[in-house]
Amino acid sequence: MIMSHGTLFIVSAPSGAGKTSLVRALLERLDGIQVSVSHTTRPQRDGEADGVNYHFVDVSAFERMIERGDFFEHARVFDNYYGTSRPAVQALLAAGTDVILEIDWQGARQVRAQVPEAESIFILPPSRATLRERLASRGTDDDTVIERRMRDAISEMSHFDEYRHVIINDDFATALAELEGLVRASRSRLERVRERHGSLIEALLSRSEGVE
Ligand code: 5GP
Repeated sequence: MIMSHGTLFIVSAPSGAGKTSLVRALLERLDGIQVSVSHTTRPQRDGEADGVNYHFVDVSAFERMIERGDFFEHARVFDNYYGTSRPAVQALLAAGTDVILEIDWQGARQVRAQVPEAESIFILPPSRATLRERLASRGTDDDTVIERRMRDAISEMSHFDEYRHVIINDDFATALAELEGLVRASRSRLERVRERHGSLIEALLSRSEGVE
């Protein structure tokens, strides 16, 4: 039996680039793809649900998971720990589901080292001014907070050239079409088609009837 397996997508972006909205819209447009729910030690924000946006855990639970080798990748991102559960991702991929990891550049490096064929995508904002506007509209107008977010965003963006694909999120619909195009293109790769359509290919190539 041929084991079917999905493609792993790494999506990174600075906060304010629109990554989460793009990924959400992508999932509404495509079947057979899911976002991995990460573990984090950061406090839950208003509107977030445990088990949906993240699995919210305390530092000691997170450290126990590191010790047990439960993480596919994990990193300290700014002030908190974030990590991707290895068994959860493996189960989805083994079931043939495409999986998106919304992770930072440090996690992306760890995933690439283990899965070189993973598709990596970096999302950039269209301008520095737009990025600042998007960061400023996130609740507080405190200049020092916004400046810190800008510094963090610039530090994340400095790793854009470690990714196979880069999408500039100027017009949302265009960026979404580009992202969707990447996922669709991955599904026409030879090995994926062989896995999913093995019997069709066998039937098409069969010499048992009407050939020669
Ligand atoms: P936020 O706290 O705003 O949801 O996410 C902050 C940053 O952590 C983002 O850059 C996000 O991509 C990253 N992040 C979220 N989950 C993970 C994860 O499981 N692993 C890694 N390495 N980074 C993550």
